Amino acid sequence: MPRILIQNGRVIDPSQAMDRVTNLLVEDGKIAAYDATPTEQDEIIDAAGKIVAPGLIDMHVHLREPGREEDERIATGTAAALAGGFSSVACCPNTDPPIDSQGTVEFIQHQAALADNCNVFVIACVSKNREGKELAEIGQLVEAGAVAVSDDGAPVFDAELMRRAFEYCLMFDIPVANHAEILELTKHGVMHEGTTSLVLGLGGIPAAAEDVMVSRDIALAEATGGRLHIMHVSSGGSTHVIRRAKRRGVRVTAEVTPHHFTLTDECLRTFDSNFKMNPPLRGQGHVDACIEALQDGTIDVIATDHAPHAKEKKMQELDRAPFGIVGLETALGLVVTRLVEPGHLDWSTALAKLTINPARVLGIPKGTLAVGADADVTIIDPEARWTVEPAEFRSKSTNTPFAGWELKGRAAVVIVGGRVKFKRG
Ligand SMILES: [Zn+2]
Ligand SMILES: [Zn+2]
Repeated sequence: MPRILIQNGRVIDPSQAMDRVTNLLVEDGKIAAYDATPTEQDEIIDAAGKIVAPGLIDMHVHLREPGREEDERIATGTAAALAGGFSSVACCPNTDPPIDSQGTVEFIQHQAALADNCNVFVIACVSKNREGKELAEIGQLVEAGAVAVSDDGAPVFDAELMRRAFEYCLMFDIPVANHAEILELTKHGVMHEGTTSLVLGLGGIPAAAEDVMVSRDIALAEATGGRLHIMHVSSGGSTHVIRRAKRRGVRVTAEVTPHHFTLTDECLRTFDSNFKMNPPLRGQGHVDACIEALQDGTIDVIATDHAPHAKEKKMQELDRAPFGIVGLETALGLVVTRLVEPGHLDWSTALAKLTINPARVLGIPKGTLAVGADADVTIIDPEARWTVEPAEFRSKSTNTPFAGWELKGRAAVVIVGGRVKFKRG
């Protein structure tokens, strides 16, 4: 493995409170030194004018394999991750079969190794077959490498099962990640319940469906001492409950997606199914609350909920089209354009939510450029202006609401374990 010297970049590493221009040396797959001087054998990467960050981590990705290879494969999803600047992803268990056995965890690890793109961490099921009835063999899943459990795609609706999941996961110090939705409140829902859904005559998904579940989960985490991670927060009500819980010392973390801090339910006026996701796009007040929660640390993580669907599925009418959009290849541009550029977050805070914070939630030794750490590095061109062209996506699916958007900020180089895995031509 050659030594790589990343020269003259602005290194921003929130894990070390570092923000300075320096030369970073990568050797034997590890971060070797700062302020290094080049030797003749070094592979030099000129990072002048660029930001050198710990490799980005997306802790909420649907890779679809096994079972839905028409939407995405592990090889294509991880290629999309690299193009988006991510050196690590955590994949969700709503595959077919679901990730509720050691064999399926190992299958994913094997496919990820074959693809040889980014690191793939596995989030396994809370319940057997994701049915919400019986706990999965969590001990065995952790032994196989699972870093968290979730029944995402669906909530853990049974409160007793959720309580036992918290208690059981305490033994392994892993989080239970929940898709917070009270299903009784969201039947036939297509979009956020509000004025726009009334005007359009579309079934509503009330914010309360999320708020009630977040409140339940926080109460159960508090009662058991368990670790709760709330996926894709979209409502102002959730942010308030999470903020208060954190102040009391409840072990709760939360994530928000780029679409939830960027778009509103007004977008559904186009009847374009690429604006249909669950939780749904909500009103501007909810968007503002999510941004405020990102600012004050109530929301720890930015994750994409990358949810690829083949064209023929998403092309159906709004009522029948599946929920979800792809996100890996637009996330960084949206973070820069919608959060950093307008001054909502500074670079260090934004990058923390894409690096060290998700690493801590998952308990993985990533998200840092400390000397001795794995050399996962993302070099970002903060000035790059580009247009979202779904036809150029590495993902197998192109279901994005951001086609044609002009964004600023893009990954230039991604290094994984000391090897350059992606370089924008
Ligand atoms: Zn979900
Ligand atoms: Zn999801």
